[in-house]
Amino acid sequence: MNTIKHVFFDLDNTLWDFRKNARFALAELYIKYDVENRYGFTFEEFHPHYHESNEGLWALIRDKKITKEELRARRFKEAFDNLGIDNDALARIFEDEYMETITNYNEVVDGAMELLNYLKPKYKLHIITNGFIEVSKRKIETSDLNGYFDTVTYADEIQILKPDPRIYSYAMEKSGANKKESIYIGDDWIADAVGAKAFGMSAIFFDRLDDNFEMDDVPTIKHLDEVRKFL
Ligand SMILES: [Mg+2]
Repeated sequence: MNTIKHVFFDLDNTLWDFRKNARFALAELYIKYDVENRYGFTFEEFHPHYHESNEGLWALIRDKKITKEELRARRFKEAFDNLGIDNDALARIFEDEYMETITNYNEVVDGAMELLNYLKPKYKLHIITNGFIEVSKRKIETSDLNGYFDTVTYADEIQILKPDPRIYSYAMEKSGANKKESIYIGDDWIADAVGAKAFGMSAIFFDRLDDNFEMDDVPTIKHLDEVRKFL
């Protein structure tokens, strides 16, 4: 892989610790709206329901079965319904305040800064994200990630999500990179690893949840430190 000049990253859960920050933000809202006292369910009981609903809906977006607006309308309603709290107004309040609240928290994934400091002098660094554009901008600008990336490609700019090859193609144009000189690192098997590989880039799968998917020529890492073996 010594021909690589450009390293593209996924943002959420690859560099910016979405799961951890989301948990902090939701815990804050849970207390703010006194959900435990009003309904008798602890945050620890609530959180798995949210996680399940959110991850499932993001998979449906990726597979083009629902829109982001549908996700926003459904994820908290489903989480509260499944927990046994029937309060659609509360679900709407959580959705309205969640994305505002989450950017108060800026934990990056373990090893991210060490890796970026190692790569920055040797490669041009970029991000391609399926996340919401305004939120993703704030995540980068207000966290330690700010200043490391030559380009950031937002799916929202062209309304095309990973793994569609057109977003990778658009990112190549935007960055002046060539796919043969580029590698992609991400934590979603379909959107990141399979998508980038199908487009013709090298790819590394960051298997944070021990999914253990495998494909020829796509190395799997369990910690960001391991990227150094390849770059
Ligand atoms: Mg991700």
